[in-house]
Amino acid sequence: VSSTEITESVYNRINEVDGSVGSYLELNKEAALKDAAVADEMIKKGEGDLLTGIPIAIKDNICVRGFKATCASKMLGNFEPPYNATVIEKLKKSGAVLVGKTNMDEFAMGSSTENSAFKKTRNPHDLERVPGGSSGGSAAAVASLTVPLSLGSDTGGSIRQPASYCGVVGLKPTYGSVSRYGLVAFASSLDQIGPFARTVEDASLLYGAICGKDEMDATSLMTKFDAKNVKNDVKGLKIGIPKEYFGKGVDSKVKELVMSAAKEYEKLGAELVEVSLPFTDYALSAYYIIACAEASSNLGRYDGVKYGYRCENAKSLEDMFVRSRSEGFGDEVKRRIMLGTFVLSSGYYDAYYKKAKLFQKNLREEFGAVFSKCDLLLTPTAPDVAFKLGEVEDPVKMYAADICTVPVNLAGLPAVSIPVLGTKDGMPVGMQLIGNNFSEETILTAANAYEKHIGGYTLPRI
Ligand code: GLN
Repeated sequence: VSSTEITESVYNRINEVDGSVGSYLELNKEAALKDAAVADEMIKKGEGDLLTGIPIAIKDNICVRGFKATCASKMLGNFEPPYNATVIEKLKKSGAVLVGKTNMDEFAMGSSTENSAFKKTRNPHDLERVPGGSSGGSAAAVASLTVPLSLGSDTGGSIRQPASYCGVVGLKPTYGSVSRYGLVAFASSLDQIGPFARTVEDASLLYGAICGKDEMDATSLMTKFDAKNVKNDVKGLKIGIPKEYFGKGVDSKVKELVMSAAKEYEKLGAELVEVSLPFTDYALSAYYIIACAEASSNLGRYDGVKYGYRCENAKSLEDMFVRSRSEGFGDEVKRRIMLGTFVLSSGYYDAYYKKAKLFQKNLREEFGAVFSKCDLLLTPTAPDVAFKLGEVEDPVKMYAADICTVPVNLAGLPAVSIPVLGTKDGMPVGMQLIGNNFSEETILTAANAYEKHIGGYTLPRI
């Protein structure tokens, strides 16, 4: 089939299901068909690669020329970036088809996509439930079979947790392995772009296309990754089971399903070893200090002056700053700016921010020590399955949904979430495989082995 035909079918599927799922904030069929025509031409000439002509959806905090980048915020409601993110440039070079922009929690702050200023996204496995967040739109777009691939961003779990809730594959790469140029900053020392897909092979392919050093992002690093090296042999691999990730707060059915997935690895020739990561207990507190501190600084740029929302009839410069920010940001974003400003303020800096940064160093060392005992770690991705829309109102309870994912960002490590065999209340359950720095090949190989072993992907009911 041609890419043009595939793109037509993508839009047919979107028309069929997206009215009820709501994955997308912006679609542009005309632009997508243009990409498809370019791809078809490339294929005819024998150019291109495995992504040529393949439709991909993009989280709305990644800049794509010709589309808005609203970050699901009123603040950037009309913002059209005049340039492409590096990941988009790379995809364009491959001849991929950019289908549209996906819904998210405002500025990527949240775990359910309910913080979007524009719309709700629903879980394709049960429309009463959230898709997870903050990249909920990208996860739901793949799970509802509108696109085979999408990009999200992960600062504290925003790729892995929605992947887990929606029953798809989501990879948070090693910090620095994918350029952040053109990704709207939330917490720059933690943010990473990564792929969603229905299979590990597809996720590997997309990761391979976007990773690598970029002179536009000083924190990006040389990465050697080739999707062809993702095999499915785990014989002799040592898989660490950190007991803190199976402790209180984790639903018993989730524990049971993830542990039986671990047991399957034994059948495949891997060895399970019990390990301990006692610092896990403090990771949530440290994450919410560091992420909010960086957010309060990063979001200082939205003041109504250069771009973004500006209030009407400002009486003075100060009035313009105050009202533009008060009216442009939603509640969760304001909460984080206030928390972040507080932990950085004189008198509290040492007690909160500095302590959290010191803790982060200890956590990194703790992970480092564990990786001398095993090749990778296996945990649940989230303590429970997707909850109902509106069910979690207390922000602190919402933060608790990130307990299994935030330590990985604090340590800068790569991790992948894949669905395990079995469901709880009919909902998918994800397992997380965490690797040492730049060990994407190892974790994706292990993920691939399990996926092939259980026979692959479960279709959503929609
Ligand atoms: N849920 C986490 C938060 O609200 C993670 C968000 C993310 O990874 N972007 O901060």
